[in-house]
Amino acid sequence: MTDTPDQYQDIRDAVRDLCSQFPDEYFRKIDETRGYPEAFVDALTRAGWLAALIPQEYGGSGLGLTEASVIMEEINRSGGNSGACHGQMYNMGTLLRHGSEEQKRKYLPKIASGELRLQSMGVTEPTTGTDTTKIKTTAVRKGDRYVINGQKVWISRVQHSDLMILLARTTPLSDVTKKSEGMSIFIVDLREAIGQGLTVQPILNMVNHETNELFFDNLEIPAENLIGEEGKGFKYILDGLNAERTLIAAECIGDGYWFVDRVTKYVKDRQVFGRPIGQNQGVQFPIARSFINVEAANLMRFEAARRFDAHQPCGAQANMAKLLAADASWEAANACLQFHGGFGFACEYDVERKFRETRLYQVAPISTNLILSYVAEHILGLPRSF
Ligand SMILES: Cc1cc2nc3c(=O)[nH]c(=O)nc-3n(C[C@H](O)[C@H](O)[C@H](O)COP(=O)(O)OP(=O)(O)OC[C@H]3O[C@@H](n4cnc5c(N)ncnc54)[C@H](O)[C@@H]3O)c2cc1C
Repeated sequence: MTDTPDQYQDIRDAVRDLCSQFPDEYFRKIDETRGYPEAFVDALTRAGWLAALIPQEYGGSGLGLTEASVIMEEINRSGGNSGACHGQMYNMGTLLRHGSEEQKRKYLPKIASGELRLQSMGVTEPTTGTDTTKIKTTAVRKGDRYVINGQKVWISRVQHSDLMILLARTTPLSDVTKKSEGMSIFIVDLREAIGQGLTVQPILNMVNHETNELFFDNLEIPAENLIGEEGKGFKYILDGLNAERTLIAAECIGDGYWFVDRVTKYVKDRQVFGRPIGQNQGVQFPIARSFINVEAANLMRFEAARRFDAHQPCGAQANMAKLLAADASWEAANACLQFHGGFGFACEYDVERKFRETRLYQVAPISTNLILSYVAEHILGLPRSF
């Protein structure tokens, strides 16, 4: 029922086929041991899925964000977690749309072949949080180098990436006319940086998600690692964030279908009071409602991806898709846990693992409140609140 064929069926079938080699037990074990799904990410890379957005001339498959989102959706729908590798998809977009020809030739073919991993993006800081334009990490030009000082927090997959996209201030906030100006983005080669001005401290967290605190102490990087024009980094990052939000919406939709499928099957089988619990409308309705909400969010996700691929403004749609999908997957997660009764809490059912994983998307990469505030101000024209 939740599996209506669409025009992306070939991609879905191929990704499902790969994912079927990594069943629930695989992801459960990774979660239990707080490990990283190396074998799974390697298999995805070898099959070319993580190079979906790289144009063919650079060794990728030249697909759009729409197809990339289907890949991420299928991973989550299979019971896995794209959070281990989705960074490669949206970070690529930043390099593709704003990197120089030289940078693209240097990095993209190696990323496509799997020789290099671009899994990390460093934006969030401990003292400024969501208020990104106040970031305190600075990059100061000194001859043919930039010298970086500051701190980042919650930066994911640094230990499983070779490269990171970093947002830093190149002009002090006090010297710019608009607070969104004066920030720049850089490619940091983590292999050279760690131990040479960059310290990485892992953060243990509720989800088994590899994320870290980063300390920059006079880290020097080549000036040629600046992406695009100095001072325009915030604008470039926003472009990448629209891709990120759309992909994460697709992951939530994959989760949403997973929860609906699991709980539907369970309530059909589970007999209490001499009948399947799914015969009770008190059980049916929350499941039906969450299915409806996943389906509706799915439409907005495809609209956001279509606009992104057509180079049309897509900020509103990407944000709305992320909010709708995160809410729908969380609602489906609650119904799934609830109707599994006590068994929902048992690790061997995988419900509690997926429940924790999907909860993250109410907060990261952008909290629900911040999306509401964006829509209120930028779409509805309500007065600025901050
Ligand atoms: C597992 C994980 C992985 C992450 N990976 C990355 C990464 O790879 N790279 C990266 O740069 N960042 C990453 N992040 C950071 C993430 O993007 C931030 O946690 C998120 O944007 C929220 O920022 P904050 O934690 O500083 O919350 P804060 O900004 O402190 O906000 C806390 C809460 O307050 C509310 N709030 C704040 N301001 C307002 C307001 N004006 N109006 C209404 N409500 C408000 C929101 O509900 C918000 O959830 C990750 C986070 C997690 C947990």
